[in-house]
Amino acid sequence: MSRSLLRHAVAQLHQELVRYGLVAWTAGNVSARVPGESLLVIKPSGVSYDELSAETMVVCDLDGNLVEGGFAPSSDTAAHAYVYRAMPEVGGVVHTHSPYATAWAARGEPIPCVLTAMADEFGGEIPVGPFARIGSDEIGKGIVATLSGHRSPAVLMRNHGVFTIGPTAKAAVKAAVMCEDVARTVHLARSLGDPVPIAREDIDALYDRYQNVYGQR
Ligand SMILES: [Zn+2]
Repeated sequence: MSRSLLRHAVAQLHQELVRYGLVAWTAGNVSARVPGESLLVIKPSGVSYDELSAETMVVCDLDGNLVEGGFAPSSDTAAHAYVYRAMPEVGGVVHTHSPYATAWAARGEPIPCVLTAMADEFGGEIPVGPFARIGSDEIGKGIVATLSGHRSPAVLMRNHGVFTIGPTAKAAVKAAVMCEDVARTVHLARSLGDPVPIAREDIDALYDRYQNVYGQR
């Protein structure tokens, strides 16, 4: 995908965050790795979702420095860039403060795998990453340390919010949508009683089927 098509795709994907109720005001961001280049496309800082377009997206190098665009990059660019440097298989990163998932992050509590949809998408619990201050590599390090070798494409950064990864930006957006969906359902289940755990072998079988058999091939 060319850089200009990717800018368009990343701008469009930001509208999905709005559509699914994952963001308030200018919070949240989507980025994509530019295939074959040490670059990423990301949302500009502090620009309203209504004003996001291919033209307002910015291109940065993998150290977070602005390469192309008329706006300053998102304040979370360093975290996205760190993930792309450390995880070459990642093609997209999403960050939100979606309310139910972030409520779990505020308690520092992983979301237990008590739904077949969670086993499908996340292959187990959604883990919690460390508390990290914005503006250095701390957030990126916490994301990579938590998700490396983990099936879950989503991490709840403690007291902060959700970061998701995927082979593409669209896959990372899907993980962010599904993370909020299961966070809400498990919250509702827990407020009514004790959710019933799913056996490890059943989680493994569900995950394997969904990742390898489900859908259009
Ligand atoms: Zn944030």
